[in-house]
Amino acid sequence: MTVPRRTLAALLLAGAGCARQPSAEAQPAAARGLSIGPEGLAQGGLALGQAAPGSRVALDGNPVRVAPDGRFILGFGRDAPPRARLAVSGPGGSETRELSIARREWDVQRLNGLPSAMVSPNAEQLARIQAEQRRINAARADDSEMPFFAEPFAWPARGRISGVYGSQRILNGEPRAAHLGLDIATPTGTPCAAMGGGRVALAADLYFTGNTVILQHGHGLTSLYAHLSAIDVAEGAAVRQGQRIGATGATGRVTGPHLHLGVSWFAVAVDPRPLLPAAA
Ligand SMILES: [Zn+2]
Repeated sequence: MTVPRRTLAALLLAGAGCARQPSAEAQPAAARGLSIGPEGLAQGGLALGQAAPGSRVALDGNPVRVAPDGRFILGFGRDAPPRARLAVSGPGGSETRELSIARREWDVQRLNGLPSAMVSPNAEQLARIQAEQRRINAARADDSEMPFFAEPFAWPARGRISGVYGSQRILNGEPRAAHLGLDIATPTGTPCAAMGGGRVALAADLYFTGNTVILQHGHGLTSLYAHLSAIDVAEGAAVRQGQRIGATGATGRVTGPHLHLGVSWFAVAVDPRPLLPAAA
């Protein structure tokens, strides 16, 4: 990336997977060297930042890992508040900036005909679900130095988009938690590829998501692949982008075969769609 001389010590933010150019947004004279682009600064967004190497970065008071080259990421949840506070200090000076997080509108999705045990689990099933959620949380808590968080990502499989991030779900007529991933309709047995390089943090058969793989890409960024008919990787294995990790299917809570792709920044689920190439 070519950085204009006046922003050498600057902070640049742009959406991952988008052109990473300095924002045309006017910079207040008082904001010494700080430049922020609007991409990724939205509910469900993942913003890729660039600070001077050696800088320290914090979002709303929480330290954020900064790579040796100064890159870092920030994730914003579906219901993120309209303001966030970014603090940067280091060789380029210190600065705190209030970020505006764009609001988004969410769809409503109705799913009917699900087995009642999937919509209203009993006590035994709830205990299993909670134990599995702890494993998922542990996989997502990893703050490794791996550099794959900043690479352009690739589609894990291609197909009709049958469910989008953020939609309010009404299962068998009952309002439930929002859908925090992207559903790609694919016939059972379709190869499923890693959207980016990384390491396998979880490979298991889970109650809701069936055969599930979670990959860590570094700096708290993970991708989750659910409802697989087959898993071809083991926990702890290194994977490269595009490598087959399994095959899509219809295991877990589904109404038909598809790949559910989830992307998270630590515990914050972000929208996978803006991270993937636009071309169909
Ligand atoms: Zn889904």
